[in-house]
Formats: sequence, structure tokens, C-alpha cells
Amino acid sequence: MERIGIIGGGQAAAALAAKLREEGFGGAITLIGAEDAPPYQRPPLSKKYLLGEWPRERLFLRPGSFYEEQGITLHLGTRAMALDAARRAVTLESGETLSFDGIALVTGARPRMLPDALFAAGRPPVGVHVLRTLADADALAPEMVAGRRLVIIGGGYIGLEAAAVARDRGLDVTLIEAAPRILARVACAETAEWFTAFHRSRGVTVITDAQITDIGGLERVSHVTLADGRTIETDLVLVGIGVEPETALAETAGLEVAQGILVDAFGRTSAPAIWAAGDCTVFPWRGRRIRLESVQNAIEQAEAVARDMLGRGTPYDPVPWFWSDQADVKLQIAGLGQGHDRIIVRESGAGRSHWYFRGDEFLAVDAINDPRAYMVGKRLLEAGRTPDPAALADPGVNLMALVRG
Ligand SMILES: Cc1cc2nc3c(=O)[nH]c(=O)nc-3n(C[C@H](O)[C@H](O)[C@H](O)COP(=O)(O)OP(=O)(O)OC[C@H]3O[C@@H](n4cnc5c(N)ncnc54)[C@H](O)[C@@H]3O)c2cc1C
Repeated sequence: MERIGIIGGGQAAAALAAKLREEGFGGAITLIGAEDAPPYQRPPLSKKYLLGEWPRERLFLRPGSFYEEQGITLHLGTRAMALDAARRAVTLESGETLSFDGIALVTGARPRMLPDALFAAGRPPVGVHVLRTLADADALAPEMVAGRRLVIIGGGYIGLEAAAVARDRGLDVTLIEAAPRILARVACAETAEWFTAFHRSRGVTVITDAQITDIGGLERVSHVTLADGRTIETDLVLVGIGVEPETALAETAGLEVAQGILVDAFGRTSAPAIWAAGDCTVFPWRGRRIRLESVQNAIEQAEAVARDMLGRGTPYDPVPWFWSDQADVKLQIAGLGQGHDRIIVRESGAGRSHWYFRGDEFLAVDAINDPRAYMVGKRLLEAGRTPDPAALADPGVNLMALVRG
């Protein structure tokens, strides 16, 4: 392979390009990204960057000189509009067509928006935000002025992180969740309850089971109305209701797509010499197909693809992990808890952890301000071992003994 094209300019793109060089690939690497900025980290966008504690430069994954030094050609601020799978040719917004021997699609995901019909203006008016890109964060941050009212729609991690930042910045925050509880898609009831209480204790109004019927304001957003008749006056709205995998380009090439670009354990798509990695993919994992939205997955799957592009691939079989920072709380998650039928709660000093089981099988752990529980849980999952639930629940049992035992 002489010419590799990487389509997408995010976390996976940067990891893939770097790994190709690390593995000794000497051919041409071209990275095509729709955003103007070179690859950067998204997690701080809802944390330290939104709070104003991190400067912009700190977000970038590599110094500007890296790409030149490594001979990686960047085409930024330009979207790939069409992909010809047979010719491995990519047509850019400008009309230019670039051909490659191998292509990696690392197109990520885009935020969902509420339907236009919910907005009095017929579309989202000024003051309604999403938070996915640096440009989104740069539009939202200056609007977060102390004393203003913010409605956050969606009680997922991004909504909760933004709620924590907004309280620190002195805003009046209401968080609206359609499901009976927050974090319904990603965490157990115990974790959700803990975070609901935490945010309420910081002055956030958390409303669950709430259907939005109307978002008012013609020029600028003014209020949100709920199905029970409540109206919440607001200056700002942040919509954090999840993302859709960005599959548009893959579809132009006729690749197999089902809630993400379908890839095998090597990151290969349904077309020869076209791979995919990161948030945009659905991949086989322990007998089912999953899609992950995490930095870990973006990096590790991209690195697996880089190796496979060079003929040194091994199946990608991660133990998923994730984190979320909310004010002074660090949540660390190892494993995937979906399908659990039992949670063991462990209290330990300042922290606590929630251990997910299905029958006798240990699935995952949520560690709240408890890095040791996270580390032990992750190691057990990596070793395919199940801890004794009774020992876990006993705060007198040293967790490290569970790893050694
Ligand atoms: C606010 C926020 C906070 C987060 N916090 C955490 C966290 O705490 N921990 C964690 O593990 N994960 C977190 N995540 C998730 C994590 O950032 C993503 O999982 C990760 O960025 C995925 O990387 P990716 O490269 O697959 O996709 P992305 O980073 O989304 O990059 C994809 C890039 O491809 C570009 N693109 C798409 N289509 C085209 C095209 N046709 N042509 C050219 N370019 C294209 C997009 O514009 C984008 O720049 C967070 C995400 C957000 C938004």
C-alpha cells in the first residue's frame, strides 16, 4: 500500500495517522477533515474548556509541527462528499478527487437535534445549542454568563457535565430528561440516583419523565413548555440528546451500514481496502454488535485498523472504559453494564462503586471518586474473572485481595 486516505479529522484520525508512522509505514498519508481545527480532544469541551480553565491550544492532540514532520498531509475545513469504493476515490466539497490504495473512514458522530416542529420559530432559534465540536463550545461558552437561566435537554453525560460547569459559572440550571431517570441508556439506576442527588445538591433542578411540547422564542429562545403544562423561562437551551453515527459518506459508497458502519473485528468494512474506526462503527464484540462512543475506542480501534492496513492486524477485543468529570466528582467506568440483573453497591471512604452482574457473570463497574475500585474492576474484566459479590459488598474486604485472589 502506497497511499492511505484517512477521512475524518478527530480522535481516531489522529491515532490512526500516528500509528501508521509508528509501525513504519513510509507511504503517503492524507487526512481529510470537515472541521477547520486539526485533531483535538472533545472531552474537555464539556469540562475544563467550557469552564474556561483550559486554553484552546491544550485541546490539540498534536502540535502543529507534528503533521509536517511526519509527512501527513492535512486537508482541513473540507468535507468528503462522495466515495467510490471500487476506485477508492474520494470527492471533496471543492470538487477535487483524491485516490488512495487504502481508506479509513473515521467520520465520528453528529449530535441529534429536536424536531423543528417543537420550535415556535419552526427551527432552533438563537440561544439553542448542541455540544460536539470546538465551534459549538466556542458558541456556548460566552453565553454562559452568571445569573442567566439555562435549560439542558437530556440527562446523559454531556448534559450532566455541562450542568456542573454551568452551576460553577453561576447560571440557574434546569435539566429535563424524557425517561423516568437520567443516564437511562448508559448506567444503572443506582448511579443515576447518586448523580441526580449530587446535581440537586448543587442547585440544579432535575425534571425526569418530562415531554417537551414547545420551545418558544422567534428570534431568541424564551421558554420550554412541558406536557404537564409547566413552562420554564430560559435564556439558553443546550440539547444533549445523544448522537447519530456519521455514515453519510459510507452510504455514498454503498458500504453496509446499520446504526453505524459495519466492520469486522479487524475494522474492515464490506468493501475491500476500506476500513473504519471510532464512533462511526458497529463492530462484533463477545457475540453481539456494539457501537462505542469513547476516546478509548476511537484510539484503540484506529490503532488496530492501522496495523491491519499494514498486514499485521489482530482482532480488536477491548474491555471498554469511559470517564466523566462533573464538578469535583470523577466517574470511571470499566466494562459494559447493559443486560445486568443485579448491582452490588460498595462504599469506601469518600467514594463508592456499583458492580454490575448478570447471573454470576461480572459485567462492569461504575466507580465514583474511587479509582481503586475502577482499577480492580478493569483488571478483573481483562482477566475474565468474576469477583465474589459478598466480598465486594463488604467494606472490610480489601479490593486488592480480589485481584490477587
Ligand atoms: C463534549 C464531549 C465530551 C466527551 N467526553 C468524553 C469523555 O469524558 N470520555 C470519553 O471517553 N469520551 C468522551 N466523549 C466522546 C469522544 O470524544 C468520542 O468518542 C471521540 O471523539 C470519537 O472519536 P472519532 O474520531 O471516532 O470521532 P470524532 O471525534 O467525532 O471525529 C470525527 C471527525 O470527522 C469529521 N467528518 C465527518 N464526516 C466527514 C466527511 N465526510 N469528510 C471529512 N470529515 C468528516 C467530523 O467533522 C469530525 O471532526 C465526549 C464527546 C463530546 C462531544
